[in-house]
Amino acid sequence: MLKLENVSKFYYNKGIIASGFTKVNLELKMGEFVAITGESGSGKSTLLNVISGLDSYEEGEMYVNGKETSHYSEKDFEDYRRKYIANIFQSFNLINSYTVYQNVELVLLLNGYKKKDVKKKILDIIDKVGLTKFKNTKVSKLSGGQKQRVAIARAIVKETPIIVADEPTGNLDSESATEVIEILKKVAKDRLVIVVTHNIEQIEQYATRIIKMHDGRIIQNTEIKTIENEPQIVESKYNNISTANKYRLGARNTFNIASKFLLLFAVFFFISAAVLTEYGSFQMSEKKSRYGYSIAFRDLSENRILINKKDRSYFTQEEYEKIKELSNVDYIIEDDIFIDGGIAIARNEISFYGNMLGLENLRGNVDIGRLPENDDEIVLRVRKDHFYIKNRLNEILNKTFSIQKSQGINAWTNESVKDITIVGIQTYGDEDDTVISSDCKFYVSKNILNELRSQMNKNYSSMEILLNNKYQQYTVEPNSNVKKGNAIVDDEFKYQFKDYKIKNKPLKIYLSNIYYSETLNLKISNTYTKSNFRALTGKNKYENNRYKIYINTSDYNKMFNKPSYQSSVYVKDEEEIDGTILELENMGINAKKVIDFRVDESGEYEQIIKIIKVVVTIILIIVLFFISYLIIRIILKSRNIYYTTLRMLGATFKNVRKILSIELFINSSISYITLLLFIYCVKNGVINLSYIAKISEFLGAKEYVLMYIVLILISKLISMKFAKKLFKNTAINTYNEEV
Ligand code: ADP
Ligand code: MG
Repeated sequence: MLKLENVSKFYYNKGIIASGFTKVNLELKMGEFVAITGESGSGKSTLLNVISGLDSYEEGEMYVNGKETSHYSEKDFEDYRRKYIANIFQSFNLINSYTVYQNVELVLLLNGYKKKDVKKKILDIIDKVGLTKFKNTKVSKLSGGQKQRVAIARAIVKETPIIVADEPTGNLDSESATEVIEILKKVAKDRLVIVVTHNIEQIEQYATRIIKMHDGRIIQNTEIKTIENEPQIVESKYNNISTANKYRLGARNTFNIASKFLLLFAVFFFISAAVLTEYGSFQMSEKKSRYGYSIAFRDLSENRILINKKDRSYFTQEEYEKIKELSNVDYIIEDDIFIDGGIAIARNEISFYGNMLGLENLRGNVDIGRLPENDDEIVLRVRKDHFYIKNRLNEILNKTFSIQKSQGINAWTNESVKDITIVGIQTYGDEDDTVISSDCKFYVSKNILNELRSQMNKNYSSMEILLNNKYQQYTVEPNSNVKKGNAIVDDEFKYQFKDYKIKNKPLKIYLSNIYYSETLNLKISNTYTKSNFRALTGKNKYENNRYKIYINTSDYNKMFNKPSYQSSVYVKDEEEIDGTILELENMGINAKKVIDFRVDESGEYEQIIKIIKVVVTIILIIVLFFISYLIIRIILKSRNIYYTTLRMLGATFKNVRKILSIELFINSSISYITLLLFIYCVKNGVINLSYIAKISEFLGAKEYVLMYIVLILISKLISMKFAKKLFKNTAINTYNEEV
């Protein structure tokens, strides 16, 4: 069966050559029970490792079943080991966290057997070594003798022709040792069993051959009993481990050491939590900085599209209907001025700021009160946590407020334009934090909207006066004493003309706002001085009103009382907004996202901050990955023995990589699912963590999936590196380093 001719084994260690054994000649048959003895360091283990293909040899020839092995590659030896060899070690080399049954089963699974096919066989063998009572006990709970019996069961279950045992009784008391030797002897009947021991008395009576080694040489080789009929050599059959069993082992390994599971769980949990938080808060600061920077547009919602017609004419109702038919269109607000024009309402010291919208734009029901029934009634939509809303409902509901006269954009006087009554209140949660936070909405009738339209337009308009071919800026005021088409100006204006003649000269007013522009052609009918001011304008206080231009009231109102030709379309899905814009453009409409009009006030500075933020975020994420990678490597270091054992039992590089990556995959998935559940609970208020809740608003399915993919990739990368490192060394070296 086995024949060694002048075989030598050398160790090369940092330039020094040491001899393991020298010029060994040996022939062993099936059915033999060989005892190898000798003092420590005489080369017994080295010889055994060479015989079992765990270690290479440098000189001579070893024949297996008549075949030369000196030219064998690592792969050939792997194949040889799987067909012929089962090892038993002094330190048992079992998986402590597996049960007796699982330890025996492991070698079969690794060699491609089906789980359900081997049950009976395993139970038979466990019975043979007398451990039936302990079959579901974890190996860590067994005594030394019991452990070695498990190792024997594992060695014989694969039915290899050769069993090698290196000091199998070295760690056992004499009673257990005898038991173990007896079991081995029984097994030896139709196999070749080679046992190394330095306690020859224990084994003498059973052995068929005794070999004595000294200083790397065989000094005695005594055949005690000759084997007459050498039993047939039956190569052990093996296959690659099935995918199902790889998953089975991966899953088993995930949970069998609780502390390792929890450590990995924590690492995966915190790395995903940290990366998602970092990314989410980055997104949040990005989005926040995009709000509040536009003076022209009060509502900078991501789902708002500004539309107008190329010829600046007003939209017809049919056109609005057509736009509403687009699938992503949620609703249209026809008059943009009411979205962007702010108004303030006040009563005593309570005031609300916001914008007015037609009642038809109110969505959902009011929380308190009712819907308006006449033109003076309104619904107030306000944040739940608005300063004035808390505990002060009785001062607000059904109370009359006055709409404040405006003094330009977002500035109000104490004068009242109109009185209205709040008959209903709708509140909304604080989740829209990124939208201008204290803004309210006032839902009013069409009539109030029309009444207030000119005030709005005025707030948003600028006027330039063309006088004597020069553009100038003066305040224009309506005055009922002035005739239509005329303008009355300060007498001082005449000095702009060479001849000081100003009467009947033309004066043009250019009015423009973001919604429309308008030109008013007037004629200067008169000039005012201190003495005629009152007679001409009907007003007192000449000193306060100098340099103003007075025009006819209805001329004045006509300039402002115009609906805006610009409307807004709100889409349902802001991710699809570009598609909707394209559809609108195909209809011949100018369409633009409102967020494109954000003014980045801080300009370059903001850009630099953004770049720094991106870089810092990326560095943080890389550092996080690196740290967790190291931690996982450290945790895995404790798994070296396990995977070395797998390797000695027949697992290939690919098997080890796959089984480990399955284990890490399951562990990280559980961790990640837990994190997602946690986020879900935070989002739904089950767990009260407002900062996390806010950040999670900025994380979508895309981010969650991406993070998961990254976790899977980390698992794969780590298992790859781990397996590479494990297989860089010979199995026996890794094993010796660890034990
Ligand atoms: P035994 O098992 O009989 O105690 P070994 O086979 O372990 O002896 O060792 C035989 C000789 O080989 C010893 O001199 C030992 O120092 C040497 N040896 C064993 N393993 C190595 C190794 N990995 N590197 C260098 N020398 C080694
Ligand atoms: Mg030894």
